[in-house]
Amino acid sequence: MNATPENSIHLPIIIGHEERDEGTFLPVYDPATGQNIGSTVVADAAIVDWAVTRAAQAFPAWAASEGQRVQALQAAAATLGGHVEELAALLARETGHSLAFARIEVQAVIGLLGGAAARSTPVLEPVRYGALQAQPVYVPYGVVAAIGPWNVPLILLFQKIADALRAGNTVVAKPSEYTPLSTVLIGRLIRGHFPDGVLSILAGGAQTGEQLVAHPLVSKISFTGSVATGQRILGSAAARVVPVTAELGGNDPAIVFEDVNPQDVIERLFWGSFFNSGQICFAIKRLYVHDSLYDTVVAGLAERAQRTRLGGPADPTAELGPLTTKAQFLHIQTLVSEARAQGAIIHSGGEALAGPGFFYPPTIVTNLAEDSRLVAEEQFGPVLPVLRFADTEDVIQRANNTRYGLGASVWSADTARAAAVGAQLRSGLLWVNGHGNVVPGAPKAGFGASGLGVEGGQSGYESYLNIRTLYGPVPETNA
Ligand code: NAD
Repeated sequence: MNATPENSIHLPIIIGHEERDEGTFLPVYDPATGQNIGSTVVADAAIVDWAVTRAAQAFPAWAASEGQRVQALQAAAATLGGHVEELAALLARETGHSLAFARIEVQAVIGLLGGAAARSTPVLEPVRYGALQAQPVYVPYGVVAAIGPWNVPLILLFQKIADALRAGNTVVAKPSEYTPLSTVLIGRLIRGHFPDGVLSILAGGAQTGEQLVAHPLVSKISFTGSVATGQRILGSAAARVVPVTAELGGNDPAIVFEDVNPQDVIERLFWGSFFNSGQICFAIKRLYVHDSLYDTVVAGLAERAQRTRLGGPADPTAELGPLTTKAQFLHIQTLVSEARAQGAIIHSGGEALAGPGFFYPPTIVTNLAEDSRLVAEEQFGPVLPVLRFADTEDVIQRANNTRYGLGASVWSADTARAAAVGAQLRSGLLWVNGHGNVVPGAPKAGFGASGLGVEGGQSGYESYLNIRTLYGPVPETNA
């Protein structure tokens, strides 16, 4: 790591045990100040090819040594335990996360690596037919390409890396071009625990990602990001018939019934929508409130939003940070301008803060049509449309009237009723009287355009394993 000048860092990318530091540099910016904070290296086609080829060469020995995999993951977790503050500070600088949230992310990565080490691969039952016996066993795929987004960059990428490695795959990973530094730094810290070629951490944008997923030696792709990119990756994977796990966007509805006490739910609704400035895939992105409570909930949320303290990671009193990317900052401004032009009422926020940094205050918007962009599309930022309903069937239909199906919540004093309404919503995550809290290690899937397959939990782990059915001598070991 070079410090050039003070406080700016440059990190070469990691291929197995080696570093690559030539070619085009990728600058990284602090979204709280707009300042350049450092750089890494864009992996070009030759570097991608080299990393994937090395991963393919390293695969057979890695797949064959379960004990080594467990030890390596445990050792990686232990090493990161000594670098939490350094990693959290870098992550906070490149994402705009609070230091507290950045620490949680780093600790979660340690938990993911340790949790993967503790996993076991199920032993499958033999299938008999007369004198014939078939023995299915789990086997790793080979080289896994792992690609992640910028909003929660470490957890989302290391969920893939940890489970894929534990299952016996080798991995070439690429974080988002906006937030690569903390991931590359983790790669530097832990690479020595893995045999050469088993884990590479590249950097770069769409082109690097395209080259990685299209590489003929990649046997499985795991992607988290937008629907548009997911569709491109699925197209590329279809051409080679490569399996894809895809965690994509969401447009989560929250439905608030008339029997809740508004004062009890305002704070939780606020954080369900605005945590990480709304840059959470399963944030509340459309809020449906029963007619009888509508005005009270809107006023309560607007009051809560107006007294929210914005600030960067250096400000310990800040409740919300900046948008992580300039593109997202501009997108949110466009959505709000469009809503205004359509006659929307803005109850709080509604204007970007004067620079520096990409700060946008929490914004409560009403008087929007169901097909306005702010309601119909994923905003992924601190702007919440609040919509009115009177009839349960009607609100279920409106909540489900989306191509997405990631998360949803139902709020009612009658939890049986809330659960019954929730059962009619198309979502991979469902909360009753809450929204957004997740248990580490629980599986996560989505319906519709929100994705394919499962990440997390035992089901997510098993998605990094294929099945081979053996006819002949029964094997002694599994993957
Ligand atoms: P994005 O799709 O723009 O980028 C994600 C990653 O894909 C980046 O690393 C990018 O460089 C790479 N990429 C871009 N084009 C590519 C291509 N053609 N081939 C291969 N890789 C390519 O997404 P983003 O803006 O970083 O993330 C925000 C989106 O991610 C939101 O829609 C959000 O809902 C979604 N998300 C989903 C989950 C989930 O668990 N479902 C979690 C977090 C974020």
